[in-house]
Amino acid sequence: MSSNTLFLAADAPLAAHAAAAASPRGAAAFGFDGIHKTYRSTDGQAVTALQDVSFHAAPGEFLTVVGPSGCGKSTLLRILAGIAQATSGTVSVGGKPSTGPSREIGVVFQAPVLLPWRTVLENTLVPAQVQRRDMAVARRRALDYLSMVGLKGFEGKYPRELSGGMQQRVGIARALVNDPGLLLMDEPFGALDAMTRETMNLELLRIKAQSGATVMLVTHSIPEAVFLGDRVVVMSPRPGRVTQIVQVDLPAQRTLDMINTDAFGAYVSGIRGNLNASGGLD
Ligand code: ADP
Ligand code: MG
Repeated sequence: MSSNTLFLAADAPLAAHAAAAASPRGAAAFGFDGIHKTYRSTDGQAVTALQDVSFHAAPGEFLTVVGPSGCGKSTLLRILAGIAQATSGTVSVGGKPSTGPSREIGVVFQAPVLLPWRTVLENTLVPAQVQRRDMAVARRRALDYLSMVGLKGFEGKYPRELSGGMQQRVGIARALVNDPGLLLMDEPFGALDAMTRETMNLELLRIKAQSGATVMLVTHSIPEAVFLGDRVVVMSPRPGRVTQIVQVDLPAQRTLDMINTDAFGAYVSGIRGNLNASGGLD
């Protein structure tokens, strides 16, 4: 029996929710309300990165956030992750005000930043060590998640022995190791070639369905945002504001051939038009 199954068996009310697979706490809702963020640069200049950003996600939803480079996507994700502070406004996770990093939240960054002297399994276990979890349980879960991301058999390898796509998979398994109810991803596939990126997008949807977590993924690729998102949050250039939230009514089971359909093209050109209008596609 996998550790995921063990968690479900121990948590009967959760087992009734078939969609919530791995997370013992279940998928977490989140919300931004009136978020402003101003950075002060070393020369004393104020840079407004985010201006009055408000939106909410339901438990289990996959939200993508798309906007031009420098519009504040990473800032927004870091505020939700609890690793940066908003200048004003509130953030909630699981219905409670967010107060800092939490094991409820897993984060995947653009570069996987693996420790070169640690094996794949040891890298995956880092957040469990930081959170002082039961390491025997965490190890079983790490092995489950490595298998889920397609790395069964690579547990003892070192990062230098893996391709870029495989390293990013380790980053995803590592983000999942504490069974987060919320998974945050900051342009996770930006450094990958186009074909690997398509494969990883499909894999991510499968992993998302299996883990049951709510996901917020930020990207500057409009097709990626439409392909992955239940809803797409569109941001303006800096200072980042939400200009549009698009409900993507494509079949829940996304397949790559959908990218060539008129419906998919209509979503992409609609969002591109919106970004053009706000000056985001200069
Ligand atoms: P994105 O991820 O959309 O490219 P970021 O959130 O990284 O955007 O940055 C938004 C804006 O805030 C940019 O203009 C960036 O230069 C500025 N910025 C980000 N981090 C800092 C920081 N630590 N200090 C000062 N300015 C910052
Ligand atoms: Mg960024």
